[in-house]
This record gives sequence, structure tokens and C-alpha cells, in this order.
Amino acid sequence: MTKNEHILEERQKDLEGKKGELDEIISETKQEEEKLRDKAKELETKIEPRLLQSFKRIRKNSRNGLGIVYVQRDACGGCFNKIPPQRQLDIRSRKKVIVCEYCGRIMIDPELAGVQAGHKATEEAPVTTTKRAIRRKSAE
Ligand SMILES: [Zn+2]
Repeated sequence: MTKNEHILEERQKDLEGKKGELDEIISETKQEEEKLRDKAKELETKIEPRLLQSFKRIRKNSRNGLGIVYVQRDACGGCFNKIPPQRQLDIRSRKKVIVCEYCGRIMIDPELAGVQAGHKATEEAPVTTTKRAIRRKSAE
């Protein structure tokens, strides 16, 4: 009983620590989020209302909240369904807005998204998760 109480006490201390850590992270991201929201509001005034409406509709319907995704490993970056080469060419030509036939998200090429050539982006994603995992482990 005493032993378990001791363990419980320790776990609660851990929990407190983690909660503090989490609050810190939340407040950090909140500031950033507010900044981005302001920026988005400003940019929205410069977009044709009809286009903005359809963009918002796409975003609302997408599970991850992304209305625009870039082509990743020959697939849609939102739903990961394969995109035929001809369609990828159309996307790269940037002549018209092309949406994914599976999920309806707007697709752009990685360069337009500010990502360096196809593969790098897919390599970068796991790195951040690894960092997080390491951080979480070291905190335990
Ligand atoms: Zn898709």
C-alpha cells in the first residue's frame, strides 16, 4: 500500500511536470496561431469572394483542414491517392486550378508550395516526428 502510494505520488509529480510543459507549448503555438489568423484575414480581403468561398468549402470538407496540398511521391498530398502523370503535368503547368478527383483538394506542385523537389519534403516530415519522440522519451 505504502509502496503504491509512493508510486502514485511520483506519477502525479510527473503529470504536473508534463502539464506545465504542455501549457508552455500551447501558449507558444497560440501566439503563432493568432499571428497567422490575422495574416489570413488580411489576405482574404485580396481574394475574389467566389474563390475564397469555394476554398473555404474545400477546407471544411477535408479531414486534415488543408484545402491546398502539393504533389508528394506522385500522389495527392491530402488523400495520398495516385495522380496520373498527365495530370501532374497539368498541375506543374499552373495554367488552371486543378482539384484532386478523390478528395477535392486543390493540388499544386511542390515548388509552388515552397518545398524543394518532391523527395525532400517526404523526408522532412518523419524527422520532426522523430525529434518529438526523442523529446518525449528524454522527459520521461
Ligand atoms: Zn486527394
